[in-house]
Formats: sequence, C-alpha cells, structure tokens
Amino acid sequence: MRVVFLGAPGAGKGTQARRIAERASIPQISTGDILRLAVREGTSLGLEAKAFMDRGELVPDSLMVGLIRDRIQQSDCVTGYLLDGFPRTLAQAEALDRMLEELDQPLQLAIELSVPDAELVRRLTGRRVCRSCGASFHVVSAPSRVHNVCDHCGGELYQRDDDAASTVERRLAVYHEQTAPISERYREVGILRELDGAQSIEALEVALERLLAPSEAR
Ligand code: AMP
Repeated sequence: MRVVFLGAPGAGKGTQARRIAERASIPQISTGDILRLAVREGTSLGLEAKAFMDRGELVPDSLMVGLIRDRIQQSDCVTGYLLDGFPRTLAQAEALDRMLEELDQPLQLAIELSVPDAELVRRLTGRRVCRSCGASFHVVSAPSRVHNVCDHCGGELYQRDDDAASTVERRLAVYHEQTAPISERYREVGILRELDGAQSIEALEVALERLLAPSEAR
C-alpha cells in the first residue's frame, strides 16, 4: 500500500495516517514530524528548515525531495507507506512521480481530506500534541483526561509554535496557493479520492477503512 494523504494543515491527515499505518504495519511518513525532530536535534536540515517553519512557509523543495527519496528506500518501506505532508507543491509531486517510476512503485491512492477554513483555524489553534508519541488533542473538542498529559503514553502535551493564530493564517494561505493545486494531478491519473474531513474522527476512520480495503488486498 503506497498512499499519499492530501489536505490542509489540521484536516486530520496525521491522526488518520497514524491509525491506518499502525493497523497495516507500514510506516507513516510525516515530513512535518521529521522536520520537527531535525529542529529539536539541531541537525543541518533542522537549522535550514526552522526559519521557514516558524513563518508558516514551506521548506525548499530541494531539501524535501532528497529527504523523501532517502526515506522511502529504507527497509521498512518495502511493503508500503503512508505519506503525510508530502507532496506539498507541484514540483514535489512531479519529483515523487519520477522517483516512484524509477523504483517501479506506483502510488495506489491519493486521499484528500477537505475541511472548511474556519474549522481548520478552530482545530489548529486549539490543538495540543504529545511530545513523546505525537498524538493530537484539542483543548475543547478532544481534551486529554488529565490536563496536558497524553492519554496514550503519559507524555507532556504542548502547543506547536506554528499553531499560533498568526502563523495558522499564513499556513492556510500557503496551502491554498501551493498545495491545493496538486489534487488535480492525481485526479487526472484517476487515483484521487476525496473525503469529508469535517466529520468526526471515528466516522472518517470508517470511511477510510472502506476506501482502503480493496487496495490492502491488492
Ligand atoms: P506539518 O506538520 O505537516 O503541518 O508541517 C509543519 C511545517 O513543516 C510546514 O508548515 C512546513 O514549514 C514544513 N513542511 C512539512 N512538510 C513539508 C513539505 N512537504 N514541503 C515543505 N515544507 C514542509
């Protein structure tokens, strides 16, 4: 199973990709998570990426394409992977196509989660993320049982710097300008599936299971 998740920041890509990846025993490759780890560890990638991330801008394609090329050739990717947060530009989508053609590993699906902007702003500005396992909560609609403690692993919850209201606005603008046009490319080759990302996490999970059942069996 080789699947790309598309959708704006806050559409639920990470939450859903994590669940599916666990069930299917394949990696969820989140470029945002990889970059945040690189920033925390102070690697050269992290140092280059940080300023872009802080502004809510995209990290240059050249860095991202190299990163994904290395990642999808690692041994845990042989039975498939879920890409969460890549591609984010047309240039990245084209590079990914070329890469997968060379590797003879076509994508099976591009799943787009659509959510109105007002709901994305609500979700992102209220989001809290576990420092240890990456699980997401929402201060109003999905609070943790204990304040700022992860229900799953007991880790500390924090607010991402780029979930501040001013940066969220920029991230959504960048999404509409640079990322949303990618869907058309996947629609043309017949692998785009669009789902309502505004429904509940559980309802979306059921819809995704239905969608993925045939491709899992392939
Ligand atoms: P995310 O966690 O997916 O919302 O990503 C957080 C930030 O990481 C984004 O706002 C970008 O600055 C950067 N980022 C993540 N994935 C990509 C990508 N594929 N291309 C460029 N920048 C990215």
